[in-house]
Amino acid sequence: MAFDYDLFVIGAGSGGVRAARFSAGFGARVAIAESRYLGGTCVNVGCVPKKLLVYGAHYSEDLEQAHAYGWTASAPTFDWPTLIANKNEEIQRLNGVYRSLLVKSGVKLFEGHARLVDPHTVEVNGERFTAEHILIATGTWPNVPDIPGKEHAITSNEVFFLGQLPKRVLVMGGGYIAVEFASIFNGLGARTTQIYRGELFLRGFDRSIREHLRDELTKKGLDLRFRTTIKRIDKQPDGSLSVTLDDGSTIETDLVMFATGRRPMVDNLGLENTGVTFNDDGFIRVDEHYVSTEPSILALGDVIGRVQLTPVATAEGMAVARRLFRPAEYRPVDYHGIPTAVFSLPHIGTVGLTEDQAVLAGHNITVYESRFGTLKLALTESNEKTFMRLIVDADTDKVLGVHMVGAEAGEIIQGMAVALKAGATKRVFDDTIGIHPTSAEEFVTMRTPIAA
Ligand code: NDP
Repeated sequence: MAFDYDLFVIGAGSGGVRAARFSAGFGARVAIAESRYLGGTCVNVGCVPKKLLVYGAHYSEDLEQAHAYGWTASAPTFDWPTLIANKNEEIQRLNGVYRSLLVKSGVKLFEGHARLVDPHTVEVNGERFTAEHILIATGTWPNVPDIPGKEHAITSNEVFFLGQLPKRVLVMGGGYIAVEFASIFNGLGARTTQIYRGELFLRGFDRSIREHLRDELTKKGLDLRFRTTIKRIDKQPDGSLSVTLDDGSTIETDLVMFATGRRPMVDNLGLENTGVTFNDDGFIRVDEHYVSTEPSILALGDVIGRVQLTPVATAEGMAVARRLFRPAEYRPVDYHGIPTAVFSLPHIGTVGLTEDQAVLAGHNITVYESRFGTLKLALTESNEKTFMRLIVDADTDKVLGVHMVGAEAGEIIQGMAVALKAGATKRVFDDTIGIHPTSAEEFVTMRTPIAA
């Protein structure tokens, strides 16, 4: 059977665009459909605008600390609409970049909602197209807990477009998004409370790192409340919100933001017309080649719920494009040693095993730590502490995990991830000459393990 396209991609986010562009570059006839915004969550309501807001929030500390370096200026004021307008302009520019990347690589772009009619047919904007392969890269959508008054709360979909900076904010959740937005609002001057149901936020990260971040955030005035949750939200006549917690106490606030995980975006995709099935969490079930239980339909990125990170989705997109249309260059995605950062203020950067994971995996471990005030802060009144940890296999000397809380943690850990990928031992770290004076040099100068 002759198909209209070799590959039809649904969803022009990081993973879908990468698969589409490279498949077209390898000579395939490719179409892509997008119903919302080019670049997907990361570019529009995720990583990129979030990082811009994080930069914006950090300026409050920079301006304060500049006094110690001899700078004086009249009392700084912050204007949220300016930050949002400038951010919107940058995102629009990036939307344009994505559009031109697709068009220049020969991909046919449909702006509209795509729906599967059968395993080889897609309907978009009232037209039907057939394709040999169909790739679902529709990402995820914020999960909203079923709490009375939930309609008064917002999610990360809306937060980037608020008209004004609220005076008081309550963020619910203990994952990446909650921690990052609590830091953003706190840094920009809103009185911020973060509510998390567990005993300590960022479940899955190294325990000492989580504790250190908790202490640093508390020092910066963030009101952290663990082991609690929201029971109901009531709108007051003056427009403010009264939030009742499960212990019966109330918090008055101007904004409630839910950051309570994300669900796969498979609404109205017509998957019931195919043999696609889902795993227990509702994410699309795929094999090691991202092929679903319907052989002509593939899926990748957040919608398969494996690792919800942009660079992982792009790596998966690359793997799909190569396997289908340039098999000689195919390499499977290596899911080991994926580095990641949480852009709280201060940042977390991490790669490899946490202490608990290393022990659980049966390693006999040695842990090295360093906690210090950076040189940049030495002249200032800040008592922020940077924290670094190395988890080492005591038998093989291999470095199993590198973790950090502090300025530029993401930038520093990216290099550490290469070292871990190359199988670096603690001896290799020790034999590496530091760059002085930096914070990163601490990673190659830790000599004494902490007591077991
Ligand atoms: P996460 O899965 O990271 O965190 C969800 C949080 O919400 C958890 O703390 C969870 O608690 C809590 N939660 C879930 N359901 C409820 C509920 N019903 N009531 C109360 N609390 C609840 O999701 P995020 O939304 O923060 O982020 C989604 C994904 O996006 C991340 O996993 C990450 O992969 C990616 N991301 C990456 C970023 C980066 O690289 N810097 C930034 C932002 C997002 P519990 O721990 O108890 O389950």
